Amino acid sequence: MILADLHLHTTNSKDGKQTLDEVILSAKNKGLVQIGISDHGYSHLTAGTTHKKQNALLQEIRAKSTSELQILAGIEANLNSLDGTIDLTREQAKALDYVNLGYHKTAMPKGIGDFFALNLLGSLGIKKFSLSMVDKYTKAFVKALKTGYVNVLAHPCYCLPLDMTEIGKVAIDYNVLIELNGKRINMSDEEIVKLYQMGVKFIINSDAHTKDRVGDFSRGLAVAQRLGILDSVANNGKKVEFV
Ligand SMILES: [Zn+2]
Ligand SMILES: [Zn+2]
Repeated sequence: MILADLHLHTTNSKDGKQTLDEVILSAKNKGLVQIGISDHGYSHLTAGTTHKKQNALLQEIRAKSTSELQILAGIEANLNSLDGTIDLTREQAKALDYVNLGYHKTAMPKGIGDFFALNLLGSLGIKKFSLSMVDKYTKAFVKALKTGYVNVLAHPCYCLPLDMTEIGKVAIDYNVLIELNGKRINMSDEEIVKLYQMGVKFIINSDAHTKDRVGDFSRGLAVAQRLGILDSVANNGKKVEFV
C-alpha cells in the first residue's frame, strides 16, 4: 500500500484547483501518512507559483504538519535550458524539504536555442527524435540532477525522450527517485525494468491538481505490480525520507 503522495498541486499552481486544507482532508480520508506539496516552479509561464505565494504556503505547511499526517514542502522545478539550468537555486531548495524536477513545455527558456529545442520540439508531439537530440536532453537532465538538490525526477520522458540508462546512473549516485506519475508514464516497460535492475529507486505519485485525485496511485501501482518492481518503490508502505 502506498502511504505517501509527494506530488500534489494547490491553487498556488494556476492549474491547481485545491487548497492546502482540501488536500489535507482528502489525504486523511485516503489514509495517507505523508504528503508533499509541489506546485509548479517559478518559470512555468502558465501555471507557476510566485515567491510570495510559495513562502506563505511554506509557513502554512509548517503550521499544519502533524505526526498523524506529515506535510513536506516541495516544488516542481522546471528545466529551462540544454545546459541544465533549472528554475530553482540551491538556496531556495534549502528552505524546502524536497524538490521534484520535470520537463514542461511552457517553462521559460533560457535562450532562443532552448526555445527551439525544449519548448517547440516538446510541443510538436514528435514520436521519434534523433539520437543527437536524445543525447542533448539527457545531458541537460544529468547536469540538473548533478546539482545535488533534486530529489525526484517527475514524469521522465514526457514529451522529450531520455537515455534512461544514463539518467539511472546519476539517479543512483545522487539519490534521485524516478517517478511513476499518476497522469503519465512515458518510459517503456523495458526502460523501467532496466532501471530496476540497475538498483534505481522509484516513487509512485498522483500529480493531483484536484482533491478527488489525491492519493490516486492506480497508474503507477499497476505498472509497478505488472513489472514486479514494488520492492524498489520508496513510498511503498512507508514515508519517504530524503537525505
Ligand atoms: Zn509536471
Ligand atoms: Zn505536477
